[in-house]
Amino acid sequence: MKLTDIKGVGPKKAEKLNQMGIFTPTDLMHYLPRKYEDRSRFATLDQAQEDIKNFFILKVENSPKTYFFKKNMSITRSVASDRTGKVNLVWFNDRFTAQKLEIGKEYKFFGKYDKEKNQLNNPLLSQIEDDFIGGIYPTYSVLKGFSKKDFIKIKNQVFESKVRVNDFLPDKLLMDKDLLDINTILKVFHNPKDYTSLFKAKRDYAIRNALLEVISRSKSSLDQTGYMENKAISLSNYIKSLSFQLTEDQQKALSEISEDMIVKKQMNRIVIGDVGSGKTITAILAAITSMKNQKQVAFMAPTELLAIQHYKNYESFLDKHGFKAAILTGSTPTVERNNIYENLKQGKIDIIFGTHALFQDKIKYKDLGLVIMDEQQRFGVYQRKLLAEKGQFPDILLLSATPIPRTLALTKFKDLDVSIIKSRPAERKPIETYLVDQTYEKRFIKFIYKNITEGRQAYVVCPRVEEDDEIEVNSVEGIYKKYKKIFASKAKVDFIHGKLSPEEKEKKQEDFADGKVDILIATTIIEVGIDVKNANIMVIYDANYFGMSQLHQIRGRIGRGQHQSYCILVKSNSEEDDEKLTFIESNNDGFEIANKDLELRGGGDRFGLFQSGLIEDSGEFLYDEDIYEEANTIFREIESGLYKLDNKLIEQEIIKTSKIYDKVIMN
Ligand code: ADP
Ligand code: MG
Repeated sequence: MKLTDIKGVGPKKAEKLNQMGIFTPTDLMHYLPRKYEDRSRFATLDQAQEDIKNFFILKVENSPKTYFFKKNMSITRSVASDRTGKVNLVWFNDRFTAQKLEIGKEYKFFGKYDKEKNQLNNPLLSQIEDDFIGGIYPTYSVLKGFSKKDFIKIKNQVFESKVRVNDFLPDKLLMDKDLLDINTILKVFHNPKDYTSLFKAKRDYAIRNALLEVISRSKSSLDQTGYMENKAISLSNYIKSLSFQLTEDQQKALSEISEDMIVKKQMNRIVIGDVGSGKTITAILAAITSMKNQKQVAFMAPTELLAIQHYKNYESFLDKHGFKAAILTGSTPTVERNNIYENLKQGKIDIIFGTHALFQDKIKYKDLGLVIMDEQQRFGVYQRKLLAEKGQFPDILLLSATPIPRTLALTKFKDLDVSIIKSRPAERKPIETYLVDQTYEKRFIKFIYKNITEGRQAYVVCPRVEEDDEIEVNSVEGIYKKYKKIFASKAKVDFIHGKLSPEEKEKKQEDFADGKVDILIATTIIEVGIDVKNANIMVIYDANYFGMSQLHQIRGRIGRGQHQSYCILVKSNSEEDDEKLTFIESNNDGFEIANKDLELRGGGDRFGLFQSGLIEDSGEFLYDEDIYEEANTIFREIESGLYKLDNKLIEQEIIKTSKIYDKVIMN
């Protein structure tokens, strides 16, 4: 079955689906909801509780009237009733919803009841027979020009057809472990009957993902007989030449890494540290041991922006000490690219910075001794393996900015040694964070202006790239237009997102770093690693749409210089207060935030898959220890031969996971 075999999917719609990363009907099945809304609670008017959204079945009493005021503003009013009473229906700036109403007919309404005014504000409306009110309702992120209703219709057809996903877990294993098969899991995700079954599906899905993680990282797949150890190198002179002192945790991590590198065994270490804790320089210093042993280092970053920034930041330091650095990304011109290939082969380059481009087939290293992967949560484990296989068993150093507790780290990364950098460079001032809603916009825009006149710069992050009438969240496009208008000639406003060409992205990033741009409107593309010390304001629109660790990461872009920094979390107006956001507001410690994150998920969303959606959430999956325990147990049993897995399916599955990461990076 092809996409265009589905009723209602022509070439145009297929193209849109492709843009969403959907190429086959099974991709549609894997396109998971962004989140769920509980629309299952029915109430009669006399039972309605104020602070909970309920659904009501109401009869329309009079025909809706629309009143216009100001520019383009309108109020539409009607009255409806059930056997317990009457209620006012009010729609602000939406005169279309109510137009569908017929007097005397019953409809489903969904919304919060305002007791004082005896009214429902902007209630959602459906025909009695429609099922998008009355259950647990999944919401999807779809592209502009593609209605959600269409998407759901299309997706449902696939589930009703004979198309099925191949399960990489054998039946026997599913039976023994009481796990749902993948087709059942996906069905529940798209159409949950109740929370119990959704919870079970999420748990089983989490175990699968954790298992894939364990399988693809397993050391046993790497033969280590060719490994060459390093002789010890004294790093003290290099450290002395830095403009700052290493923190205690940096020193500790560095000595743990150096230890690993001089023993005759491949290093597999992960450094876990909070944003801004100084992981990069720790890794660069570690690289010296390798380079001084006449081996090459590949420093891989998940985005071009980050690779370029690392290269620029550390090139002069490396050069000063006689190491030749180079950079290779997808947009390196062919001539230069071929040059780099040649120099890598001949060993004329000591350390190469880059993105995925570093593990293409064409690249041959003379002697690859160390692979550093920055922001490892962004890389598919499969990609890691590819690169690792390029060298003569290079040491592997992963850097992770998802601070998780040591005990969880040890279960999650069973196959890795773990270093933790907790302390942050002392001279930094803590960031002040404020949680507001969008009615504060004028005020914080003034505040941005004030800081800009003092010479500072600001980031503004939105969850989406394009404007979309159907999705009420802010977009880079929309905010850019708005800010352009407000700031006019008073500030230079620019935007950046993953849909721009690499050259454009680099140029815009450079302009911001050089201070040519005052306000940069961006997607989460700036979430990873970007380091501009003069920027001291971070505004995050629709902050409730992001996961906790993601918010912390984004906030970590500021507070890097000597200026006091401010983060403004703007929640969507329709959202209730969110424990997640209030915690971030009052806490700036990544480790504590990660703990809270796990704790909060302990309730409703324990496995975090849907916190902001699988596709959109760029953070790594973070599960409870017991999920990893279970995955580790299953892995051991697979290794002992108890279950036979189809290696081809596993490989496909792992590639698929890494593709999801790729897609996220494109954000
Ligand atoms: P992250 O751990 O988030 O990757 P970086 O390595 O980007 O952090 O470091 C953030 C900034 O802090 C960089 O500009 C870096 O030069 C600086 N830095 C790193 N270590 C120290 C230190 N010990 N003292 C002062 N500044 C430091
Ligand atoms: Mg970093």
